Formats: sequence, C-alpha cells, structure tokens
Amino acid sequence: VARCPRLTKIRGPQIRNLLEAKDFILFDCDGVIWHGETAITGAAKVVSSLIRHGKNVVFVTNNCTRPRENYVHKFYRLGFTDVMLEQIFSSSYCSALYLRDVVKIRGQVFVMGCDGLRRELQGGGRPLRGGGGRDVKAVLVGHDDKLTFLKLAKASCYLRDPDCLFLATDNDPWHPLSGGRILPGSGSLTAALEVSSGRKATVIGKPSRFMFECISSQFSGVEPAQCLMIGDRLETDMLFGSNCGFDTMLTLTGVSQLEEAQEYRDSELAANHSLVPDYVVDSIADFLPAFEELDDEQSN
Ligand SMILES: [Mg+2]
Repeated sequence: VARCPRLTKIRGPQIRNLLEAKDFILFDCDGVIWHGETAITGAAKVVSSLIRHGKNVVFVTNNCTRPRENYVHKFYRLGFTDVMLEQIFSSSYCSALYLRDVVKIRGQVFVMGCDGLRRELQGGGRPLRGGGGRDVKAVLVGHDDKLTFLKLAKASCYLRDPDCLFLATDNDPWHPLSGGRILPGSGSLTAALEVSSGRKATVIGKPSRFMFECISSQFSGVEPAQCLMIGDRLETDMLFGSNCGFDTMLTLTGVSQLEEAQEYRDSELAANHSLVPDYVVDSIADFLPAFEELDDEQSN
C-alpha cells in the first residue's frame, strides 16, 4: 500500500491531538533535543512533561561513541533529570544486542570504532580483539577517530572470509559541527571497507528496523501505530519511522530542511516518499503549549 506523505506543519491543538493518540514517543538526540553539549531550549521540559503525562519516551541515536551510562550522565548534565538507562537505545548498545542475541557470535569481534563502542560490547560479554587474531568472526565498524590504514587493511583481510560477519553501527555520512564544519560519520568508514572487501555491511542503527526490535523486546506490547518518531534527519530518522510503520515528525532544529522534505515528496521515485515526514515542527519546544492545554483540562 502506498504511503501518503503528509508533510503537515502542526501547532498547538494539532500537536495535542497527536500526543493524545500516541503512547510511545521516540526521539533522536542530536539536532532534536540537543546540539552537542547544548540542550535545545525547552527540550528538557518537553521530555519531562511527556513522562509526567504517562508517555513512554525512548531515545534512539546512531551516535555510537559513548556507552549508555555516559548518556545518562549527559542527559542529567543538560537538564534532562528524569531519563533512565532503559530509555536509551544507541547504535552501539543495539550492536551489542545483535551480536549477543541475534547472531550469537562465538569468537572475536574486530572493532573499528572508539572506546565507547568497545565498552558497550564488553558490557554485553563480548570477547573483543582490537588488534585482530585468527578467530575473528565479525567486523564491526563505527565512528573511529583513531582510524589508521593498518586497521582498514586488517578489517579488509578478515572480511575475505565469507563466514566473517560485516556489521556497521550506522551509515550516517557526516555530522554537523558548529560554524558549518562537518565530521565524517561511520558511513564514510563503512564505505571504504565495502569497497575494499566487495561486501555490503549489515547496518544496525537507523534506518534499520532492528533498533525497534531492541525496543519492543524491552517494552512489552509496543505497537507501531502507537509510536511517533521525532528526528531531524530525513535519511535516517524519517526512513526509520517509515520502515517501522510509525508516524514521523521532522523538527527543523537539525540537519534536514523543509525544502529537502518537499523535494522527496515531489520526487517521482516512490522510494523517496518513505523519507517524507508526516508532521513538521520548528522545534520540539512547540509542544509546550499543548501541555499547558492538557494540564488545564486535567485541572478542570
Ligand atoms: Mg539527529
């Protein structure tokens, strides 16, 4: 069935109706609730209001550089004081779950990524081999700020073995920094290895549906129709929501602009329509008036 992208800019009462209809609110982090180390104005209040109104709130991030414990600290530091470990689903955590529960890996995992990714995998009880070895059964690529040619060479050699799995935490091409600068993302490292190995990586993070499987294995009874995915990037967040059958909302505080969503909507390629959000807001702070209305109703 063809999806009919709505791309509707919504405000006060419409946001209220939407929130009333949804039990699970999934947030991307960077560009949605914060920019690096700065919370987006009003975001902490939105998150705590959702929780106060009985909504299940989870955070779904492709950032694989820190273990979940560090995220809890970051949330707290930026004023999100009621976010718990169980609400955080990062691509490194989900990679650990994939290795442990889906492929039930026995043997070493060669990691091209930072310490945060390694720590998350160790938390999942994974035997790891940074330097490599004969028993490597998977190569996992993430954000690696200490990338060397030697690491690429080793990973390429391991992938000559067709039984060695090839996984990527995410496929993000780049990440925004301040002042218009960018940082290459895991996708750029994955692409290098795909070329040298002639293989395609299995992507764990958004837009892969696997992250939702991780969420639904930990929150019983979550139905896609009850879910709203809020993100700032069409190619990851909105496509993830579409792949999972959620309603989707683009917030304009991050990477993607309204014009890009309109181009995808008007595209003749049907596949592009999966990148078009159902709803658009300028910022998630636009939710705040909706809570005031809900609170007024409840006190009357
Ligand atoms: Mg983002």
